[in-house]
Amino acid sequence: MERSLNFLEEIIESDLKNGKYTSIVTRFPPEPNGYLHIGHASSICLNFGLTQRYPGYTNLRFDDTNPVTEDTEYVESIKEDVRWLGFEWKHERYASDYFDQLYDYAHALIDKDLAYVDDLTADEIAAQKGTPTEPGVNSPYRSRSIAENKDLFVRMKNGEFPDGAKTLRAKIDMSHSNMLMRDPILYRIKHAAHHRTGSRWCIYPMYDFAHGQSDSIEQITHSICTLEFVPHRELYDWLIQQLAIYPSHQYEFARRNINYTVTSKRKLLQLVTEKKVSGWDDPRMPTISGLRRRGYTPESIREFCERIGVAKRENMVDVGLLEFCVREHLNKISLRRMVVFDPLKVVITNYEGEEFLSSENNPEDPTTGTRPIPFSKEIYIERDDFMENPPKKYFRLAPGQLVRLKSAYIIKCDEVIKDPDGNVTELHCTYIPNSKSGSDTSGINVKGTLHWVSAAQAVQVEVRLYDRLFSVEDPTDESQDFMHYLNPSSLTVLPTVMAEPSLLEASPAERFQFIRKGYFVLDKESTAQRLVFNKTVGLKDGWTPEKGK
Ligand code: ATP
Ligand code: MG
Repeated sequence: MERSLNFLEEIIESDLKNGKYTSIVTRFPPEPNGYLHIGHASSICLNFGLTQRYPGYTNLRFDDTNPVTEDTEYVESIKEDVRWLGFEWKHERYASDYFDQLYDYAHALIDKDLAYVDDLTADEIAAQKGTPTEPGVNSPYRSRSIAENKDLFVRMKNGEFPDGAKTLRAKIDMSHSNMLMRDPILYRIKHAAHHRTGSRWCIYPMYDFAHGQSDSIEQITHSICTLEFVPHRELYDWLIQQLAIYPSHQYEFARRNINYTVTSKRKLLQLVTEKKVSGWDDPRMPTISGLRRRGYTPESIREFCERIGVAKRENMVDVGLLEFCVREHLNKISLRRMVVFDPLKVVITNYEGEEFLSSENNPEDPTTGTRPIPFSKEIYIERDDFMENPPKKYFRLAPGQLVRLKSAYIIKCDEVIKDPDGNVTELHCTYIPNSKSGSDTSGINVKGTLHWVSAAQAVQVEVRLYDRLFSVEDPTDESQDFMHYLNPSSLTVLPTVMAEPSLLEASPAERFQFIRKGYFVLDKESTAQRLVFNKTVGLKDGWTPEKGK
């Protein structure tokens, strides 16, 4: 189904039609100070999606102008995540590649008397900025000569001054209606090692002086960022114009926020460093790596981003839509398996020996064929699939009642065995020999079908169930610290789950539907001795994109 164009596609179509461009260039510009999250996925799908739809290409540019918080570990994870989502960049670039060029641009501004070295501290500068209704105050250093500015700027670069002693500021207008145009800082002194340039630099460009210039150097046609940068656009344009460099244009779209989660690298980092989660790829994290480990597919994340589309106003997206998208995809691709979470032993008193029955791997995809499942005298069923005193219309197992075992026989419960405390420990049942699935001639109709595993061949595995990491819709409502909203029971570990033996061959790339339980994937902590499965999502929760919640 072809959807209508979003506002960026409209702009690009008109730019291509009226000949402004024959092809377009976009970029995805993460700062390598954390792992990518689901909000970034929407920016990735947007930027790369546009150059799949229209002629052109997309660069991956690391916005690495802040040496203190950045790291190569983050660079590597970002590349892995973008590729996993299914996109390939044309050029891998770093803002730090442009440090020499940016330094020259700064000199060009000084030469035009459009930048000056200021001795005020960052705090003093902020205090003199004025307010939206009151003009700011000119710095006493604003009238330094071009020659003096050039000399001081070179000495800043050469490391003659300590951190914070001086800045380079643009000379624009201290009474400008846009506060960001009131002589913004372009460079600061920071004696810190950079993950790529080492100790070569001790002055670093500010975001506003790096971003637009990097766009321009790469001849980005459509530079897409989130709405908080709207006020920065005027400075973006001013710098490009004064430097007379390639005219990239900035367009803004609404940041994507998802309920019951946080999408801020800083907050996610805090969860990691305070060990509230096991790491950036904890399956409860809204990071791309967390979603991957949880069993999400790239297709489902791309589908989610496509469905939420591009907006000009911020809103909260329901996490139910993300879950809907992955459930839809997993239903199509996952292999059906039988796994019993809370085993109750059933002895089939009139069955002897063992046999292999056949069960479909995926009714949605007949090409996946069938697999053999062992059946024998002792099996496990789910403890909550039995009730001693069932209500009316209870179609599972109860004394005297019949159920079908999935892909096997109809059984009848004859006897309930209990321990001295009255707990049910075992059920004794009989099976109906001519009721085998696929060749049932018993003529008996039963309403309930249960999953089960054969006790002798069952493999004990660990299953990890996840709930939302935060217990409220908006953990960043700021009425209290977001950490207070952590859901204390977001992880449940089931250590003694009984699985059918075919799961011994599970591979990390496979997706499973544990019948009647949900969708699962093998976790990276699995060993040959102990398999661990993560629950990706449940089978259904009634949420549909039409209804919303
Ligand atoms: P964070 O607050 O999580 O650090 P950020 O915007 O500072 O996010 P960057 O690494 O600078 O992170 O972001 C790279 C790109 O991803 C930017 O273009 C940014 O606008 C976009 N982006 C980040 N978060 C979101 C989001 N929640 N929704 C849409 N786009 C986002
Ligand atoms: Mg940022």
